[in-house]
Amino acid sequence: TTEDQWRPFNGSRVYMADLESTLHYSLRLELAAHPVIKGEALITLQRYISVLAKVPNAALPEGVRWVGCQGSKPHFRRYPCGMWTLFHVLTVQAEEAAGKDPQEVLQAMRSYVHSFFGCRACATHFENMAKDSMSHVGTLSTAMLWLWSRHNHVNNRLAGALSEDPHFPKIQWPSPELCPSCHGVKKSGEHTWNQEELLTFLRSHFSSEHLLSDYLE
Ligand code: FAD
Repeated sequence: TTEDQWRPFNGSRVYMADLESTLHYSLRLELAAHPVIKGEALITLQRYISVLAKVPNAALPEGVRWVGCQGSKPHFRRYPCGMWTLFHVLTVQAEEAAGKDPQEVLQAMRSYVHSFFGCRACATHFENMAKDSMSHVGTLSTAMLWLWSRHNHVNNRLAGALSEDPHFPKIQWPSPELCPSCHGVKKSGEHTWNQEELLTFLRSHFSSEHLLSDYLE
């Protein structure tokens, strides 16, 4: 089937098809697996939808078409990759949409993961990270950096694990090839991140303008 066909893609870009596939999976499969949604979970769902409605200019397709989130085997990457991508896009595009409240977007993600994300071990890990520091985030640029650094923590923990697609090794992202100016070196020889450069990079990489709508591009 076409769904299993490998689509060549540019690994340094973000694809609309992955965001749309993520929305399809989240809204039509993951949420639909809950026959009843009420109380706290219903509030969570309302906040998630409200954040999505303010930001992604995406269509809701009838199925999935992974591109940048394709894996070398069907059990690799895909939806969890799409979810991270969507979350980064939400923090960056909330700022583009002149959003003011970093907690609105962060807490919407946090509670979605807590209430609905199918990988329950992931939800527990993410909740532990969120509990420690998420509520201290006061600006959208800090929110972008918070999510970026937590995602790198997860990459670090999962590097070399069985869940890692051997064709897409977990790295401390972005690589020096993808963003040379994001990387610095201290006098002691230790690696450092240049946060201003990182912010510039994240704002561009996940911006609405930069999303590729055609996977062949
Ligand atoms: P992913 O880590 O999914 O990243 C997707 C893409 O985002 C990458 O290809 C890259 O282009 C970009 N990217 C990578 N790092 C960053 C960064 N720091 N900032 C911005 N963009 C970046 N799996 C587990 O086994 N255990 C867990 O506890 C776990 N927790 C998770 C928690 C959450 C909230 C989510 C969404 C997923 C979690 N997963 C967990 C799944 C795991 O993190 C990966 O999503 C999955 O293994 C697929 O990896 P991937 O190679 O597609 O890259």
